[in-house]
Amino acid sequence: MARITLDHIRHAYGPNPKSEKDYALREVDHEWNDGGAYALLGPSGCGKTTLLNIISGLVQPSHGRILFDGKDVTDLSTQQRNIAQVFQFPVIYDTMTVYDNLAFPLRNRGVAEPEVDRRVREILEMIDLSGWANRRARGLTADQKQKISLGRGLVRSDVNAILFDEPLTVIDPHMKWVLRSQLKRLHKQFGFTMVYVTHDQTEALTFADKVVVMYDGEIVQIGTPAELFERPSHTFVGYFIGSPGMNFMPARVEGNAVRMGGETLTLDYAPKTTGATKTELGIRPEFIRIGREGMPITVIKVEDIGRLKIVRAQFAGQPLAIVTSEDAEIPSEARVTFEPTAIGIYADSWRVGREA
Ligand code: ADP
Ligand code: MG
Repeated sequence: MARITLDHIRHAYGPNPKSEKDYALREVDHEWNDGGAYALLGPSGCGKTTLLNIISGLVQPSHGRILFDGKDVTDLSTQQRNIAQVFQFPVIYDTMTVYDNLAFPLRNRGVAEPEVDRRVREILEMIDLSGWANRRARGLTADQKQKISLGRGLVRSDVNAILFDEPLTVIDPHMKWVLRSQLKRLHKQFGFTMVYVTHDQTEALTFADKVVVMYDGEIVQIGTPAELFERPSHTFVGYFIGSPGMNFMPARVEGNAVRMGGETLTLDYAPKTTGATKTELGIRPEFIRIGREGMPITVIKVEDIGRLKIVRAQFAGQPLAIVTSEDAEIPSEARVTFEPTAIGIYADSWRVGREA
């Protein structure tokens, strides 16, 4: 297993990038711990697959270096990097049996047959295909083929890292859940460095101990699920993580005072917004209290989602979502208070701290 260092990685697919817009990855400079379980989360097109392929060696970055345990591997092939990779769609040998497909990565490395047999049977059980060992892969369903792909990624326990690119897309929801817990178990058992790409926040939050959020060619935050929820460092993280996402509203900051429409909030610090083009206040719907005190809102509708309600309202001329467990009827003219520690101030999309 290895610690992975991404040293100032930039990548453009075209030959002559002219502006920042031509880069699929703009500046990725991070170190991922040995044995960590990382989820790479972001919308379609933000550069997740590009980054994964740069780590595995399928794509050569335009700039920057990749290091495993401090050793430069930028010029090495995937094979030399000793990486297992599972793609979004099945990559298997149709004419081989299920068993031989799984045995292939081990035999290829010269592993002795008794050990091959032990590992293959273990994986067959895990992917729930024990009864299919001697069938040719050709006749199987897409779902079964993808499980074989996954199994091939997991069969070796001596790799530097295992990379998964949205591996459960074609798997049905129940099996998805089962396989995800199996992955977690294997991770605990072998301590692989795992990087798991997904655009599904539930998948990311349940799988990983660290979630890497990507947006538009950049990593905007790396954190635990709780950190991403409580202190999003970028408006995109606030918006993308959580349901409904974080509320953001235009604000004017003067010292400790934050003005939104006709309302003013006083913070216990002066946010550093000097020079920003756009300043916003961010607050999660879960950290707004609705009641008789505070700033006025106009309730537009209340969505009952079981134990909780989502209140959609207008506040200081802006839409505001509130999540509440309040049982009583919510009047159309109500009042809200924001949990002070949950308020974030964002200057040009990035969360800011206090004025130095
Ligand atoms: P994701 O996996 O997050 O959906 P990708 O890494 O596949 O994103 O793509 C990032 C950007 O790079 C997108 O704008 C995409 O169109 C572009 N891109 C991806 N692969 C290629 C390629 N082989 N050639 C040219 N552009 C590509
Ligand atoms: Mg992708």
